[in-house]
Amino acid sequence: MEGKILEASIKCEARRAFLALCSPKTRLLHDPVADPYAVCGHPNPAGLGDAARFSQTGSWGQSSVLFPKLETYRTADKCGRAPYGGAEYGVPLTPEADAVCRKIAALHKGHGAVICPSGLAAIATTVDAFSPQAVLIPDNVYGPMLRFLNRRRIKQIRYPAGASADEFRPLLLKARSEYPLREDLLVYIEAPGSGTFEIPDIDGMIAIAQNAKLRTVMDNTWASHVRFQPLEHGIDIAVQATTKYEGGYGDTPSGIVIAKHPQDLRIIAAELRATGNGAVAPTTCSRLYHRIDSTEERLNQHAGTAARLIEWFLQQPFVTGVLSPTLATSPYHERFLRYFGQGNSLFSVVFRPDLPAKQVEAFVDALNLFWVAESWGGHLSLVLPVHAKREVTPLPDGYILRFHAGLEDCQDLLRDLNQAARIL
Ligand SMILES: *Cc1c(COP(=O)(O)O)cnc(C)c1O
Repeated sequence: MEGKILEASIKCEARRAFLALCSPKTRLLHDPVADPYAVCGHPNPAGLGDAARFSQTGSWGQSSVLFPKLETYRTADKCGRAPYGGAEYGVPLTPEADAVCRKIAALHKGHGAVICPSGLAAIATTVDAFSPQAVLIPDNVYGPMLRFLNRRRIKQIRYPAGASADEFRPLLLKARSEYPLREDLLVYIEAPGSGTFEIPDIDGMIAIAQNAKLRTVMDNTWASHVRFQPLEHGIDIAVQATTKYEGGYGDTPSGIVIAKHPQDLRIIAAELRATGNGAVAPTTCSRLYHRIDSTEERLNQHAGTAARLIEWFLQQPFVTGVLSPTLATSPYHERFLRYFGQGNSLFSVVFRPDLPAKQVEAFVDALNLFWVAESWGGHLSLVLPVHAKREVTPLPDGYILRFHAGLEDCQDLLRDLNQAARIL
């Protein structure tokens, strides 16, 4: 352990030395470079700049909500809402949570929304609310979703990542014959999918599901409300890990479920009320409430930087390809233009299959501005190997790294990649 601490602190010094030569914009985002051992791995423990000050205000999620008279309380208890916003009891729904849900529901033109303590909790709440026996899921679905479905013993029927309507239809019809009740079978879409970013024929699949009178759920985390509006395309329920782009700085762990129909919202809200799983820190909700306004600006900057990093990777002899639907050479490019129009921060790099894994990993460890970390969408650039459990869609040969382009100065990121690439 001590050796590891020393190693991390030496690496930290290297990062600080590298940062000293970066532009002010990059320095603002990374300074002070904290030794992960000293801050338990959390990059902005005191909040970013003025955020620390703002986090002193708000309801702080107090559990007792006060009522002037018994009658006011009785009315609130009956409908689950206090007259001043929030709930009759402070754990599941604070006024801050209420405000952020209204804001996001309006952006998606949904009937309403609920907020959960993480993106995964939002997915779990949605699936639990309808308790299906089987779910049609894409092969490139967000990994932890599989763990959740296994745990609940819900049958997973996988369709190919980037499925066409013709590939999807027979799978759905077969599943429908095995699970004839609407309640028993859920159609789940995530696009572009995790790690490899294939895009299915979303509109075609929705039409097929609607024809079969099945409920559709879409994980819209990649796109956020800025790039795609699932409900406008006919999806019944959209789920977003607002941990990612909406919060934007890695300090808003949360997930939002947006329902198109009042009856679906009622079922999801009842699920949350029954389990008490809806408690989200009011500081998280306040941050989200304000940062939603800058999501588009940030996303555009992430996308611009990602495009230039992709260009760099494509010129390197150690790379066989880059997985990103933004590329004209991607088989999903036409769908990408039709549904999303512009990219985000994410892309995956496929390394030459003859390169030893150790060498690719040494490249990762030689980077100074890209941190090894899960959960993307924040200000810092990140990198992580892609370990996907695919059943029907094979992965390309070679080591795959997923990159998240942060908000740093692009020139600094390129300089960092160039110095680390000397290892390859
Ligand atoms: C990150 C992520 C989630 C889960 O979000 P958490 O807030 O980390 O639980 C869900 N879906 C997708 C596609 C994600 O990338």
